[in-house]
Amino acid sequence: MGTKSFEIKHLHSGGIITNYNCPSQCRHCLYKSGPRRDKRYLDPQTAETILARSAALNCRSVHIGGGEPLLNPPALQNILEIARNAGISIEYVETNSAWFRDQAEARLILESLRAVGLQTLLISISPMHNEFIPFARTKGLMALCQQMNIAVFPWISEFVADLNRFAAERPHALQEYESVFGRKYRERILKRYWIHLGGRALDTFRPALPGQSIDTILNTAGSCAADLGNTSHFHIDLYGNFIPGLCAGLAIAVQDLGQPLKPDIYPIITLLANVGVKGLFEMASRDYGFETPKKEYINKCDLCTDIRHHLVNQDFPSKELRPTEFYTLP
Ligand code: SF4
Repeated sequence: MGTKSFEIKHLHSGGIITNYNCPSQCRHCLYKSGPRRDKRYLDPQTAETILARSAALNCRSVHIGGGEPLLNPPALQNILEIARNAGISIEYVETNSAWFRDQAEARLILESLRAVGLQTLLISISPMHNEFIPFARTKGLMALCQQMNIAVFPWISEFVADLNRFAAERPHALQEYESVFGRKYRERILKRYWIHLGGRALDTFRPALPGQSIDTILNTAGSCAADLGNTSHFHIDLYGNFIPGLCAGLAIAVQDLGQPLKPDIYPIITLLANVGVKGLFEMASRDYGFETPKKEYINKCDLCTDIRHHLVNQDFPSKELRPTEFYTLP
């Protein structure tokens, strides 16, 4: 079987990651955002490139996420303005409310964003967020949005009752939830909340999930072309990296979208699309000495992520394994 070039032909629905820096370090974060990540924010020129490429591939609206996009309101205001000028509408801006201090200050920030098109805030509500952010801030921001007629997309309201069991003025560790709601609380979260098992979520939820042997995974996984090519919830980050599917830690330069990827520039993505994780495992074992003491992984993406960590540690010569901090920081 010959090697077929992989291509992202169209973009459906997605988001722009303005920054990976975040005051929180949530246990379920797919992109492993946190306080130690690069403090850089999406610059205007890269934003223009990303938006123009998205529009050329049929995507006329995006959401904004992070990290925490509201860590830099003037920069966010700039991005919203650029999107408006490019004819791309903003579905919502995600926020975890960590920046909320008082209504007067927050009102000024929201007014500046509304002036350039902000209509809806997706506000994160979960026990994982509550480990860092007092629920009083989340509630304060939601109340302010209501006063200002800014729509709120609570993600997710299902957890409001759980968070309300604890004092709102301070954060609460997940262990506190487990002592109130039972030791299977963490496992039940997976049934109540959409969590993609990638990034930091792998370590958090692996203990609560059954494992599969490496042989089982390698013999059943197959090609990842459909996963990598799924653009129903894509992301493009501040460095101009398109993240294929939900495969955090893989990157395609935004300029390379809409054309067949050169296998010599994208050997890993080409291998994953053609053969799947089995191909990656064989290449990494044969050429880069990949060995693992782990007997089991929860799924093919768990194994894939582990192999990619190994390749980054071996200075694998490709820009597909980006951003590097995804691999080097906890
Ligand atoms: S195995 Fe790797 S490439 Fe395939 S879907 Fe999972 S993370 Fe993506």
